[in-house]
Amino acid sequence: MHSANADVVVVGAGAAGHAVARALRRRDPVCTITLIAADSAAVYPKNALATALAAGRDPVRLVQASADMVAAREDLHLIEQSPVRSIDLVQRTVDMELGSIPYERLVLALGEEVGVPDALRGNPAVCPINRLADFNRLKARMAGARRVLILGAGPQACEFANELAVSGRRPIVLDRARHPLGERLPALAARRLRVDLEYAGVDFRLGERLLAVDPIAANRYRAYTSCNERIDVDAVLSLIEPRPRVALARAAGLAAGRRGIAVDARLRAGAVGVFAVGACVDLPSPIAHAGIEAQAHALAETLCGRPTQPESRPDAIRLNTPDAEFVFFEPPPIAGEWQERATPGGVSSAFVDRDGRLRGFALAGSAVDGRKSWLARLAR
Ligand SMILES: Cc1cc2nc3c(=O)[nH]c(=O)nc-3n(C[C@H](O)[C@H](O)[C@H](O)COP(=O)(O)OP(=O)(O)OC[C@H]3O[C@@H](n4cnc5c(N)ncnc54)[C@H](O)[C@@H]3O)c2cc1C
Repeated sequence: MHSANADVVVVGAGAAGHAVARALRRRDPVCTITLIAADSAAVYPKNALATALAAGRDPVRLVQASADMVAAREDLHLIEQSPVRSIDLVQRTVDMELGSIPYERLVLALGEEVGVPDALRGNPAVCPINRLADFNRLKARMAGARRVLILGAGPQACEFANELAVSGRRPIVLDRARHPLGERLPALAARRLRVDLEYAGVDFRLGERLLAVDPIAANRYRAYTSCNERIDVDAVLSLIEPRPRVALARAAGLAAGRRGIAVDARLRAGAVGVFAVGACVDLPSPIAHAGIEAQAHALAETLCGRPTQPESRPDAIRLNTPDAEFVFFEPPPIAGEWQERATPGGVSSAFVDRDGRLRGFALAGSAVDGRKSWLARLAR
């Protein structure tokens, strides 16, 4: 398959791929944009996936625009259900099962993978929550499930667990880390989050690993943990920390590590005409806090011949947990220490570097009200 004029090929149709296509079309009404997705290219809010599942909502109601609608609106050449298998940086082609497409400029928007722990890879009893395509399978599994084992205790896992508890189910959160939100957080703030969620009905098994899961009846599973526990549940879902998808870029010869595909401050991925955006990239420090929309706008400018650096605006993450107020700003990986203080009704924790500058924070309970002033005090 060869299109005559493949100006820009975007691989990945998640929030980042769509944002780039939209921003580019707004600036250039005539260039050819080809958008390739491994599965569906429908537009939906990924952050609503887990909560919709917990609430038993119909997956179709999450879709904000079908792939066809977007293709028509943005005048895209859209290829769905076609994983790109390899990239040839010399010939400048992307290769899929049905053929290869040449590109002038290539944008990698490959996102991230929510996997399962290594010991459970390939076990059909364990379902990751990551894609709209998973939803129907997950929905069937969740129908009637009361006790649900959630692997991972990161932000998405905490939100999902709280939502399940609100809907009257019994979530059990299991993670090898000793605190919710793993090693990102200091002990006192994390304990406050845990206590608030426990009060709402979430059961935590922290500092434990899941070793195996066996089906014991229809929609009934027995989980074995590293603390010699057996936990009988109706469903096992994985929300362990997502990993940037880097395999395709690496195989092509681009630099990529555990934190994502390496890019410079203009999102160039180290080969002529190749860029990367969204959850698959390891942003350099000058643009470390550039959101997906900011990246897409800057990249669209760059693709139109006006090299632009995305605006980087630090913002704290607020957990969408109705029973636990919690806000945090993750510090960069630098030397420093957490200083924690219990306040009436809350906890505030500051991460200060060796020069005494505020580089990160976590606020729990009533302390979240001070979020804006904490953000303003962050060292830039
Ligand atoms: C349950 C859940 C909740 C989340 N909630 C939040 C939140 O509240 N706030 C937040 O900031 N982030 C949240 N995230 C993180 C979220 O993944 C990202 O913010 C956002 O979805 C990243 O968009 P993306 O387009 O980079 O990646 P994705 O949305 O992962 O899209 C990747 C795209 O690449 C395609 N693709 C992958 N490999 C190939 C291939 N080889 N060939 C072709 N196409 C390919 C996929 O089909 C997909 O279309 C959440 C993630 C999950 C799983």
